Amino acid sequence: MRPTLAFVTDRFNYFNDKIFGGELKPLTIRLSPARSFMGQLRHSHRRNPDGSVTHYDYRLTISTFYDQTEAELEDTIIHEMIHYYLNHNGVRDTSAHGQHFRAMMNRINKEHGRHITISNRRESQQLSADCARHSYVLCVSTLPDGQRGITVCARTRIFYLYVKLPRLYGVKVMQWFLSRDTFFNKYPKSVTPKIYKITESELTEHLREAVPLICDGKKIRVKK
Ligand SMILES: [Zn+2]
Repeated sequence: MRPTLAFVTDRFNYFNDKIFGGELKPLTIRLSPARSFMGQLRHSHRRNPDGSVTHYDYRLTISTFYDQTEAELEDTIIHEMIHYYLNHNGVRDTSAHGQHFRAMMNRINKEHGRHITISNRRESQQLSADCARHSYVLCVSTLPDGQRGITVCARTRIFYLYVKLPRLYGVKVMQWFLSRDTFFNKYPKSVTPKIYKITESELTEHLREAVPLICDGKKIRVKK
């Protein structure tokens, strides 16, 4: 079946009551013809004066591209609801589908007879969409005056930025990272060369779990 807004909304409310104890606040629900994901949860966030972060404006999008059975669609909706639940409760997971996600998924599968996964073929599409969503390609630069800068690079513009950033800013050193830290949400994904100043301590804190990459202008890969 192809999902309708009425169906997704109805299922969201039903599972919210049945599985999540009614804890999930209503959110914006949308349909999309996207091929790149089955379901997607997005939200905005802002940093408060006291340093805490408020997450808000959650949007659940379900793709109409795939012809799924009703049960598969429901599993997709619940999958995204787990992301919503964890994020909304400030649970920092070990990865996009880390230990907290898996624990909750396994419990729901067991208690409610569901078949939510993160690893079968259908879900691997979802997983890669999630990874794309949750991870950032970062260029960390050292400027001529020694200050540090950051560029969150649009995936399609990495090699363009590789060439342009040094030319425009006289960058001395460029380091590349893959990060899932939500701190980087607040930076726009650059398609044109732009460097944002960042302090050394912010860098240290937020690159702690980043994966170093090697970029040579033609290829970018994980540093071994
Ligand atoms: Zn997911």
